[in-house]
Amino acid sequence: MTAPPRIDDAAAAAAAAIDWDKLGFDIVRTRSYAEYTWRDGAWDAGVLVPSGPLSLDVWATSLHYGQACFEGLKAFRMRDGKVRVFRPDVNARRLQLSCRAISMPEVSVELFVEAVNRAVTDNLDFVPPYGHSGSLYIRPFVVGSGPQVGLTPAPEFKFIVVVNPVGDYYRGGISQPVRAVIQHGFDRAAPRGTGHTKVAGNYAPCLGPTTRAKKHGYTVMLFLDPKTNRYIDEFATSNFAALTRPDVNGRRTYVTPRSRSILSSVTNRSLTELAVKHFGWTAERRQVSWDEVRSGAFDEVVACGTAVVVTPIGAIDREVLLDTAGASADPRVAPLSSATTGIEHLWDDAELDNYTDDDDAAPRAVQSVEFSSNFEGFKQLQKAYRQIQTGDLDGWESYGWMLPAAGL
Ligand SMILES: *Cc1c(COP(=O)(O)O)cnc(C)c1O
Repeated sequence: MTAPPRIDDAAAAAAAAIDWDKLGFDIVRTRSYAEYTWRDGAWDAGVLVPSGPLSLDVWATSLHYGQACFEGLKAFRMRDGKVRVFRPDVNARRLQLSCRAISMPEVSVELFVEAVNRAVTDNLDFVPPYGHSGSLYIRPFVVGSGPQVGLTPAPEFKFIVVVNPVGDYYRGGISQPVRAVIQHGFDRAAPRGTGHTKVAGNYAPCLGPTTRAKKHGYTVMLFLDPKTNRYIDEFATSNFAALTRPDVNGRRTYVTPRSRSILSSVTNRSLTELAVKHFGWTAERRQVSWDEVRSGAFDEVVACGTAVVVTPIGAIDREVLLDTAGASADPRVAPLSSATTGIEHLWDDAELDNYTDDDDAAPRAVQSVEFSSNFEGFKQLQKAYRQIQTGDLDGWESYGWMLPAAGL
C-alpha cells in the first residue's frame, strides 16, 4: 500500500501554528481551494486543489477583456463550536448578477453554496476559534479561462473558491473615525455601467486615486453618482449608511442611498434588517444628496462591508475646483483645433489622464462636513450583527443567516 500524500500534515501543522491574536488581513496559505470548470455549456463536478500559487497561464488569454468577477464573505466558528457561513445565498445571487453583466455563465446558488462549504470544510482548522474577532474570509471568483483573442466570451471558465483566515482589517475598529474624501474628476462607475456588480474592471481604476487619497491623509474614498455628481453613491469598497439622531423614544432612521451604480452590500442589507427587526427603527433606501449630508441631517455615517463591517466616518471632504465658470468646467473635454494647436496636439491625450501632478496643482477648495457623534447607534447595530455571527444573540437562528443551519 502506498502512503497517502503528505501534504495534509504540512497544512495541519501550519494551521496549528497560527497565532489567532495576531491575525491581520494578509495571505495565509490554507490546505486547499475548490475549483470548477465550465466547458461545453456546463460546470463540472469540481476538485479540491492543494493550495499553492494558482497557475495563471491557463486562463491568461481571455483576461484581456476583463471577464472576471468575485465575491467576498466570511465563515465563523460559533458558540456551539460549529462553523457557519454568513448569508452565502445572498452572495450567490449577487455573483449571478455580475456574471450576467459580463457574459459569463452563471453559477447556480446550489453550486455556489456547495463550493463554499467544500472549501471551508476542507480548511476547518484555519477558522479562528470562537472568542476571537477573526474569521475565515472566503473569496469566490469566476474568470474566463479558454484561449481567445477575438472580442467574444471565453470558451471556458473557472469558478474558484479560495479561503484565508483574517483578523481585523483596520485595527482601530469602530472607536476610530476616519476621514473620507470625494475627489474631483474621477467617477467609480458609469451612469449605465457596471457599478451595481462586483466585476473586476470596477476596481483597478480606483487603485491610483486611492493611493492619491492616502497620500493626502484620507482612509477611504467616497463617490457621487456619476451622472449629476449631486447624490451619494458609495465608498470604493463599501456602502454608505447613516443614522439620524434618536427621537424621544430612542428610535432612529437608517438611511442608505439607492442608485444604479452602487454595489448592493450584504452587510448594509443585513444592518438595515437588524435596525428594523431587532431595534424597531425605520429604514429608508433612497437618493441622498451631498447637500443633505452637508446640512447635518445625519448624526452618524459609516462605510460598511464584509471586510470591515462598519468604519465610522469622522469627516468628509469634497474637492471642488475653484474656477468652474469657464467655457468648459472639465479640462478633459476642452476642444482642440489644428488651427490653434497643430496636428500633434490634436491627438495629445496626456491631459485625459486626470491624475497627473498638473491636476494635483489645479486650484481647488474643500467643502467639509464633520460628524462629532460617538457612533452609539452603529455601535449597537454592529454588536448585534457580531452576536448573530457568533451565535450569541438570542434568537440568532430566526434570521436564517448562518448556514448551513446544522453547521460544518
Ligand atoms: C464588496 C463591496 C461592498 C461591500 O459588500 P458586502 O457584501 O457588504 O461585503 C460595497 N461596495 C463595493 C464597491 C464592493 O465591492
